[in-house]
Amino acid sequence: MAQSPVRLCEICENSLGSRYCTDCEQVFCESCELSHLKSKSCRNHFFKYADISNPEVKTPICIQHEEKLTFYCYTCISLICNMCLPITHKKHDFCLIDDAASKTRPRLDFEVKSAEARVSRVKQQIISSRLTLKNVEDEIDKVKRDIDERVAVIVNALDATKDTFLKSVEEHRLEEIKKINQEIMKIEKETENGVEVLDKMKNSIDGQNNITLMDAFSEMTKTLQSLSLVNMGTVLPDRVQFIPCSKKPYFHNLIGNLLIRNPNGSCYEVQIPE
Ligand SMILES: [Zn+2]
Ligand SMILES: [Zn+2]
Ligand SMILES: [Zn+2]
Ligand SMILES: [Zn+2]
Repeated sequence: MAQSPVRLCEICENSLGSRYCTDCEQVFCESCELSHLKSKSCRNHFFKYADISNPEVKTPICIQHEEKLTFYCYTCISLICNMCLPITHKKHDFCLIDDAASKTRPRLDFEVKSAEARVSRVKQQIISSRLTLKNVEDEIDKVKRDIDERVAVIVNALDATKDTFLKSVEEHRLEEIKKINQEIMKIEKETENGVEVLDKMKNSIDGQNNITLMDAFSEMTKTLQSLSLVNMGTVLPDRVQFIPCSKKPYFHNLIGNLLIRNPNGSCYEVQIPE
């Protein structure tokens, strides 16, 4: 316990205030107490030792009689003085304050100690509640991370599937382009040959040699027929088309279930809105 400050006499403000006048409610030194008791009006004032260890707590006196309190009345639960006793409390359950205090002190001590134990249990409870709070936060963080991870797995799988779709489309594109380019090249080559043959025929027609013209006539007719077969319409490309799945995507089944578990062991599933 910290050292209490020394209290000085309130009269001379010089010497140690070791005495207390219960009538004036003032602290006196021993020599000022003597002069106080010599004055006519204060001759009967009651002095006691000042409570130096705790100077702020003034010992109460009987308000009615301004007398020192000597007894404790259990019936009235109050302190009483010598004068109160015969007037009101004579038939009450009372005893000397010192006797009452010696019984009360250990009981109060016990009650204070058990209250302290309760306070310490509550403090323990607070620590454990804080720990629970942290565990709940950690658990919720983990659940959030797990949901994120699960969704990432689905998104990645979906992306991979999309890539295989796009790859198939691309393969089809390359195949069709190759086919059409080959066709274009073939037609170009045939057209080139045809132009060459036609130029030769034009020369024969323009020439004056009838024998050569008629000799080549049937051959030229065949060539003209084969030239007429060349046209772009013979090659039709394979068409590609995407028909989206008409079902509304329902991801809940893919992601999983959210369960709430009570400490008593029961468990229910949280309904996640779509
Ligand atoms: Zn003094
Ligand atoms: Zn006095
Ligand atoms: Zn009294
Ligand atoms: Zn009483």
